Amino acid sequence: MLLNGKGAAPGAAVGSIYIYNEKFNTPSESYISKGQEQTHLDRYLSVKDEALIELEKIRLAMQKLDPSKAEIFTAQKEIVKDIIINEEIPAKIMNERWAGNWAIYHVYETVLAALRKTTDPLIAERAADFDDVRALLINLWNGQRKKSLSTLKEPVVIAAHDLKPSDTAGLDRSKVLAIITEAGGITSHTAIIAKSYGIPAVLGIHGLLGFVKHGQLAAVEATKGTVILDPEESIVKEYRKKSGVFSRDKKDAETFLKKEALTSCGVKIDIGLNISGAEDEELSSEHYADSVGLFRTEFMYIERNDLPTEDEQFVSYKKVLECFGEKPVILRTLDIGGDKQMTGLVIENEENPFLGNRGIRFCFSNPNILRTQIRAALRASLYGNLWIMFPMVSSIDDIRRLKNIIAEEKEKLKKEGVKIGEMKIGIMVEVPSIALVAEVAAQEVDFASIGSNDLCQYLCAADRMNSEVESYYQSYHPAVFRMIKTAVTAFTAAGKPISICGELGGDPLAIPVLIGLGLRKLSMGAASVAAIKRAIASVSIKKAEEIAKKVLQFSTAAEIEEFLSK
Ligand code: PEP
Ligand code: MG
Repeated sequence: MLLNGKGAAPGAAVGSIYIYNEKFNTPSESYISKGQEQTHLDRYLSVKDEALIELEKIRLAMQKLDPSKAEIFTAQKEIVKDIIINEEIPAKIMNERWAGNWAIYHVYETVLAALRKTTDPLIAERAADFDDVRALLINLWNGQRKKSLSTLKEPVVIAAHDLKPSDTAGLDRSKVLAIITEAGGITSHTAIIAKSYGIPAVLGIHGLLGFVKHGQLAAVEATKGTVILDPEESIVKEYRKKSGVFSRDKKDAETFLKKEALTSCGVKIDIGLNISGAEDEELSSEHYADSVGLFRTEFMYIERNDLPTEDEQFVSYKKVLECFGEKPVILRTLDIGGDKQMTGLVIENEENPFLGNRGIRFCFSNPNILRTQIRAALRASLYGNLWIMFPMVSSIDDIRRLKNIIAEEKEKLKKEGVKIGEMKIGIMVEVPSIALVAEVAAQEVDFASIGSNDLCQYLCAADRMNSEVESYYQSYHPAVFRMIKTAVTAFTAAGKPISICGELGGDPLAIPVLIGLGLRKLSMGAASVAAIKRAIASVSIKKAEEIAKKVLQFSTAAEIEEFLSK
């Protein structure tokens, strides 16, 4: 059986499934006989103590692994000790003769019901903590210690609905071959942990826990986002080989991580990071990079019920800018629509969302959102080297309209007496119509970055989210490389920086071609940096130019892929 999800951390593995399910059995409404009150109260008090010990253990483990996450467990310990909860539960047991587990469940439920009503995302997060604590108390009441991924006996493929920080605290990475989950996107906690531990992960597999059994054999290929259940012997062999090759290769690539990215003939290539937020994990690879090549700001808007305020955005942007000091930070304005939706805003369903009100178009039709973001960026620009970039630009009209809006907001802020810094203005080259007029665009803006993910989708007319047309979405299509060449040549001739921040920029196979086409700035996810630096070191400019020339002469994507693989 083949399951599909999103590959969130690269690699391949084959092994037995270990189902990690943190759900607890909801206790039924039950009462105790007269005389049993003290026993239930004592048991609650001892469960409470055990929970505190358990949480402290996790906090200490997390402190070593990720200090910012350790605070979660300090907060959860406070919940266990909460004064009101600790008056209510004993009162229900002693005065109303509720069974202890029913009292725990019900008293926490009352708090949770109130918290769930709010739309404030911070309070919603608080609700998740109350939920976690309640599960821990009830599991302890039932005599079940918290299952820990730190005590796995043998290497397994973990299958879960989702993994929370408390689940992964102290995780023994030598015992985890791969992680597969029902929930979780590429920016989820699970994805971040998997990437930083180098564990292959496929997330977002619908209905996963309904398909898998404990101990069942699974072959995971995270690069493709697939899981094969009960694979045949030939597949098991193939995946074992893939997994071995992957780990040896990873170890070798790691040796390049701290080095500067130089071609074999000594030309420096700038390495940018693609980040999705200002969290410490996102910024932790700063030492290995020369810039933030793409700060996808939309994640600040997604998965919440309201819009981020100007101040909130200012604080995040400032944090990233301060972390990168003089290194450029390319902040991309909200890129919503298409595959990315916001819960805080009703976006009308469109027949063809990728050809619709997406990226900058959505912002033009919601000017307050765009202006708030520009104001926050202008204010933050005082604290570092900020370059602002706009997605889905398709014409010179778009660029002029944007420049006018920026000028107006600058003027307003000055009148309000708010200090602002300088920022470069740039565009993503991801729509063919702007790539083809790149010489004109280069006169209008300070820089550009090629969004190869969308450029490929629009050039090949193949929806990047639709698996039915996957074979038509060809990243190595000669047209993609030709169009990259057009944009790079135009911007280079105008003396304006141009980079690439789509997935192609993090693909080792494509590196010689990109360098050969004239790119000197590449941006990618942190997990790809080591392999890309190694690919850069293996090629000279002369060789790269020969490779690029050859690639442009091929007729099909398959021919190009075969040539590059060799
Ligand atoms: C791209 O299109 O290549 C890109 C980097 O943007 P996103 O993947 O966020 O659309
Ligand atoms: Mg894009």
